[in-house]
Amino acid sequence: MSGIILKTREEIELMRESALIVSKTLGMLASEIKPGVTTLALDALAYDFIKDQNAEPGFLGLYDFPNTLCMSPNSQVVHGIPNDNPLEEGDIISIDCGALKNGFFGDHAYTFAVGEIAPETEKLLRITKESLYEGIKAFQLNNRIGDLGYAIQHYCEKEGYGVVRELVGHGLGETMHEAPEVPNYGKRGRGKKFLNGIVLAIEPMINMGTHRIKQLKDGWTILTADGKPSAHFEHNVALIDGKPELLSTFEYVYQALGIQSEEEIPFRSLPLVL
Ligand code: MG
Ligand code: MG
Repeated sequence: MSGIILKTREEIELMRESALIVSKTLGMLASEIKPGVTTLALDALAYDFIKDQNAEPGFLGLYDFPNTLCMSPNSQVVHGIPNDNPLEEGDIISIDCGALKNGFFGDHAYTFAVGEIAPETEKLLRITKESLYEGIKAFQLNNRIGDLGYAIQHYCEKEGYGVVRELVGHGLGETMHEAPEVPNYGKRGRGKKFLNGIVLAIEPMINMGTHRIKQLKDGWTILTADGKPSAHFEHNVALIDGKPELLSTFEYVYQALGIQSEEEIPFRSLPLVL
């Protein structure tokens, strides 16, 4: 398959380590997100935390990105740069975190609520996260990339949401962005077939309104064209024995926030030990 690097079981276990580091980092941040905190302060915490795990921040310097985390509040979709603006009650903040350990990358994202958020925004977060699992369910042996994209797109568009076209999920490994591209839209039965040993970063980026986006003059920040909120959730998933196996986990976030969830259980061959 053109350009797709299949991983051995040993490599996948190393990738699980990298995925757990980014998962723990988001879990650590979950307790720190509150009105008044700046995204730059959270970024500094993440830098130290990743270094303490004997890993390297995966985004810092990647394509010249200036920070450890991509921090994208409210109408920002992805690639927001941390700054000194304090988060406010009712905001949402999408945090994307990368780490490099043992030569392999982890890449993980979650959209957090800052205090109480509007019910319609809460629904956007819920549907976007559920669509991630719809995509993971479609990551099965002999299914195709179009099946995965269709699953996410269908789940979100039936709610009237916009599925971002220009930014996509990707293969993951010794480089952050490997083949194949994994769009969050597509046609069933189209695209490359999934094979055992593929590791993907699956990451729906879903807008409450139009799917259209624009970019700030900083050359990084992507935001919705209509100014409505956008959500982003990302897992790292390996295809093992024909089935999707989660390498990353939101359980550290859920532990910090006191959330009970069984959403990840179908995608684990072994129970998660936190
Ligand atoms: Mg990411
Ligand atoms: Mg990614």
